[in-house]
Amino acid sequence: MPRESKRAKRERAVEMCRRMGELYPAVESALDYHDPFTLVICVLLSAQTTDAAVNKVTPELFRRWPTAEAMAQADPAEIAEVIRTIGFFRAKSLHCVEASQMIVSDYGGEVPQTMEELTRLPGVGRKTANIVLNKGFGIVDGIAVDTHVYRISRRMRFSNAPTPLQCEQDLLKLLPQELWGPVNEQWIHFGRDTCSAQRPKCEGCPLVDLCPSAFKADGNPKPPRKRRATKKAADK
Ligand code: SF4
Repeated sequence: MPRESKRAKRERAVEMCRRMGELYPAVESALDYHDPFTLVICVLLSAQTTDAAVNKVTPELFRRWPTAEAMAQADPAEIAEVIRTIGFFRAKSLHCVEASQMIVSDYGGEVPQTMEELTRLPGVGRKTANIVLNKGFGIVDGIAVDTHVYRISRRMRFSNAPTPLQCEQDLLKLLPQELWGPVNEQWIHFGRDTCSAQRPKCEGCPLVDLCPSAFKADGNPKPPRKRRATKKAADK
């Protein structure tokens, strides 16, 4: 494949975002949260776990510890008992308590609203902070790169970075800032619906003409072979 100019890659990326906007005009977070604090906790719990699994444990979690003040006083072992059906529940229960303690001690009980402050909280990295800023406060300061955004970015050759963190930096350089906001949720939906890890559905994919990995990605069936015109058909 000939080397693609930066301009052509950017045009391809912008066109992809335009199509994602048409496909997913109003995507909402699948996590059940009520305010910035419960959003922080939900996103923190959702690492390496499905949103549905998180939504099963949070009603009881937020019934018992509804605020940062309450969760800051909790025994991590009791939280672990409530969230034990999700992955890494012991580490996450500790992070819930420690993040709550910092929100109370350093930010007066209010979830902070900057990337720098949010990423100080135990268990909160750039991905979580981006989601909290975006969904909790309407602030777009980056792109949350989860497993779907990372995979799709690589398949679309927008990034070949070895980590999601570096991938985010590639996307931020590639896309104009006004397009960053919906990328996370739209691409997650697209990754689940069409460009899945194991069996991307390239046939019928709305990006097939933009995608350098079409019919090449792992687990993808080969494109249908064009039938050669048989002598009989050609003679018709
Ligand atoms: S063409 Fe295939 S690999 Fe490319 S974005 Fe679509 S589903 Fe994914």
